Amino acid sequence: AYVITSPCLNEKNAECIDVCPVDCIEEGDEMFHIDPDVCIDCGACQPVCPVEAIYAEEEVPEQEQTYIDINRHFFQET
Ligand code: SF4
Repeated sequence: AYVITSPCLNEKNAECIDVCPVDCIEEGDEMFHIDPDVCIDCGACQPVCPVEAIYAEEEVPEQEQTYIDINRHFFQET
């Protein structure tokens, strides 16, 4: 699945929401999150993000790895 990382904090540009074909990007308090169980790995959201916050899970930079869990937990609670 794709993962949204820290550049999205307080950015919430939402371009990604418009392009996601399966509507798996949801708004949290401070940022957007991608539902890892619904994401089909199409990659459409990545190039439209103006702050380059979106990565394929296996390409998330070391210092952003916590966002993999943050995204997952967001959808477990809702
Ligand atoms: Fe949606 Fe595709 Fe981005 Fe996954 S990779 S969140 S399916 S636009």
